[in-house]
Amino acid sequence: MKKVLEVKDLSVSFHTYGGEVQAVRDVSFDLHEGETLAIVGESGSGKSVTVQSIMRLLSMPPAEFKSGSILMDGENIVAKSEKEMEKVRGQEMGMIFQDPMTSLNPTMKIGSQITEGLIKHQNMSKKDAHARGVELLKLVGIPNPETRINQYPHEFSGGMRQRAMIAIALSCNPKILIADEPTTALDVTIQAQILELLRELQEETKTAIVLITHDLGVVANAADRVAVMYGGKVVETGTVDELFYEPKHPYTWGLLGSMPKLNDDRMELQSIPGTPPDLKDPPKGCPFAARCPYAMKVCDAHMPEYMESSTTQKTACWLLDERAPKVDPPENIFAGGGK
Ligand code: SF4
Repeated sequence: MKKVLEVKDLSVSFHTYGGEVQAVRDVSFDLHEGETLAIVGESGSGKSVTVQSIMRLLSMPPAEFKSGSILMDGENIVAKSEKEMEKVRGQEMGMIFQDPMTSLNPTMKIGSQITEGLIKHQNMSKKDAHARGVELLKLVGIPNPETRINQYPHEFSGGMRQRAMIAIALSCNPKILIADEPTTALDVTIQAQILELLRELQEETKTAIVLITHDLGVVANAADRVAVMYGGKVVETGTVDELFYEPKHPYTWGLLGSMPKLNDDRMELQSIPGTPPDLKDPPKGCPFAARCPYAMKVCDAHMPEYMESSTTQKTACWLLDERAPKVDPPENIFAGGGK
C-alpha cells in the first residue's frame, strides 16, 4: 500500500508562563492508503497535539515546531505557508472532532457547511455543490437528506451531527481523515454505527484514517495498526493483533489491564498507579519509569531505543534488551485471563 503520510522525529513544544512544555518528543510513524492507525494514550500523552500538528491547527506561538518533519506525498507540511495549508486542509485532509456541537457552526445550515468546501476547493457551482451535499448526507446514512440539508445543527441528534461532520470531512475526497475521539460523546449503539460507517466509507474511498482514542474497545473494532503514546513519545507500535495479544511495553500492559473484562468478577476497575511525567521537565530516560513496576537503573538514565519484535512491532523498553531479566506480561491483561 502506498505511504500517504510520514511523520519523522516530530517535536512540538508550547511556551507557557511556567516554562516550555515538550508535548510531543521525537514522534515518528507512517500511514498507508486505506489503513486506520489508532493513536492511544491517556490525557496529556501528546496524541491530540500530534494530529493537530499534522493539520497545522496549533496557534504558533505559543506552540512551536522544534524539529522533525511531516511528509505528505513527499512535501513537508511543517514548511507550508498558511495559505498552502488552507488548500491541504480542504482537499487533502479532513478532520472529525470529538464534539460536533462545538465544531459545527450553530448559525449555519448543515447544507452551507457541507457545500462551503465544495465551492471553495472543488470549484463547484452552488447548484452542483447542493446536489453533492444531498448525496453526501445520504452516503453517511442521514434519512431525508433533501430536507435535512436545509436544517441547523440543533435540529440533528448527536449521532446525526457526527454523521454530518463525517460528510463535511469527506466532502473533498481527502487522502487522510483525522478522527479525534470521534465517538467519545456518543452512546455505545451510535458509537458502533459511526465506526461501522467509517469502515464502509474507507472501503469505498481508500482514505487513510488516523484515529485518536483512549478507548481500546474502539481500537479493537476500528484500527489496523496502533501507536501507543506516553509522555509525549510513541512507546510501542504494532498491528492490532500484536498490541492485544503480544504487547511488549509495560505501559501497554497497564492500558490493557485497565480495560474491563467480561469474565472479571473484581468489583474495582484497575488503574495504573502514579501520574504522567511533567513535560516541562521530562525525564531523561524512559518517561514511564516512575510508574513502571519493572523499572531498572538504566531506565532512569537512558531513553531506550526502539527494539523490533517483528517487521511491524517496535517497542521502546529496556526489558527487550538481551541483558535485561525476562519478564512476562501479567496474565490479567488478556481478555480470557491468559494468552
Ligand atoms: Fe519500564 Fe524500563 Fe521499560 Fe520504561 S524502559 S517501561 S521503566 S522497564
